Amino acid sequence: MSAKTAEILCVGTELLMGNIVNTNAAVISSELSGAGIDIYHQSVIGDNPERLKDAAELALSRSDILITTGGLGPTYDDLTKETVAKLLGVELYLDTESWESIKQYFASMNRELTENNKKQAMLPVGCTVFPNPNGTAPGFAIEKDGKTVIMLPGPPREMKPMLLNYAIPYLSRKSKDCLVSRNLYFFGIGEAVLEQRLKSLMESSRNPTVAPYAKTGEVMLRLTARVEKGSDASYLLDPVQKEIEAVAGEYLYGVDCSDLQTAAVRALSNARLTVSCAESCTGGLVAERITRVSGSSKVFRGGIVSYDNSAKISVLGVKPETIERFGAVSAETALEMAQCAAKLFRSDIAVSVTGNAGPQGSEDKPVGLVYIGICSPGYSDVITLNVKRRDDDIRSYVKEIASSNAIRLILKACQSF
Ligand code: ATP
Ligand code: MG
Repeated sequence: MSAKTAEILCVGTELLMGNIVNTNAAVISSELSGAGIDIYHQSVIGDNPERLKDAAELALSRSDILITTGGLGPTYDDLTKETVAKLLGVELYLDTESWESIKQYFASMNRELTENNKKQAMLPVGCTVFPNPNGTAPGFAIEKDGKTVIMLPGPPREMKPMLLNYAIPYLSRKSKDCLVSRNLYFFGIGEAVLEQRLKSLMESSRNPTVAPYAKTGEVMLRLTARVEKGSDASYLLDPVQKEIEAVAGEYLYGVDCSDLQTAAVRALSNARLTVSCAESCTGGLVAERITRVSGSSKVFRGGIVSYDNSAKISVLGVKPETIERFGAVSAETALEMAQCAAKLFRSDIAVSVTGNAGPQGSEDKPVGLVYIGICSPGYSDVITLNVKRRDDDIRSYVKEIASSNAIRLILKACQSF
């Protein structure tokens, strides 16, 4: 199945000069790939008619679809429409319906209408108009010699709804197939190692394609299959997922679940289990992340931030001897913190974090040394992390990685029931 190719041309000198960030291109790219259209080029051009014409001409020589944003406004430097219409050899006409909407929009905003606003209602003959309820300039699609040109306004709050409500449906109606993605989430394996293990699969796989995305301590693999509209993509996705699981299954924590905490809350609710936590160096981050997930109230009992030793002893109930003998940052303290939390909150599972987030370390407790305790009837353990990174913000990094590991252990504990 051959896919249509598209490219994006964002018009605006401000973009070119770096005064504003090109968020439109990012939004359009991600929506188009979801609609099964391949993007091969993105470019930015200033408000200059000659260079704009050249850029549009080049785009139309190599892509099926050209999407522009910006330059649809009423002023003299808004010239995308005029320039591209001339290139295509189509005349502009006054679209009375658009002109009426513009007049109404101005009236509703109590703003004065000027003659040059009429310029915004001038559209190429034969185009499909995309209304703009959030602004004045309508967008449109026009077909010429087998090519499609779509023009959208520059302001993101006008562009995005027009893209979602008009441009994408317009393009989808013309396409026979669609893309279906499945996201596999991994924790505890680096992007480079995962890529190494999957190198040949990633290189050889065309349908679905396999692409990695890394974020702090995690990797996501996106499998994207192209299928005929309305048909099920599992027959393409399942075998590739199996192949991936065969080499990295122990690190896979979720499918289409967006993050560790969502996976954990899902697993806890499915198993009807409850969890609590006792945190030192993460300062409540584990609790915060769990409570980001809607539905966490059914599974999360509560947490204690026992930062100072006195809180570990008097609030949580850790034995003073344990801290005296092994230190607050120790496997023994971590395990006892988890046991105390499970008892206090009467939860099925409890997790604890104690460590040194820096920036000052000592010889026996270096920065990044973290112990995570997990306590549940079938699975109790302490893991040791040695988080390393040369970084100005080592504290945030250690906290993030430690909290991720704690949540990963909750998931593991769920599986032990
Ligand atoms: P207007 O009618 O407001 O003039 P327009 O369609 O002519 O709209 P531009 O004049 O090119 O669009 O841009 C208007 C504003 O929209 C810019 O000042 C900027 O804030 C925003 N904008 C334009 N292009 C982009 C882009 N690619 N990404 C993010 N913001 C953009
Ligand atoms: Mg403008």
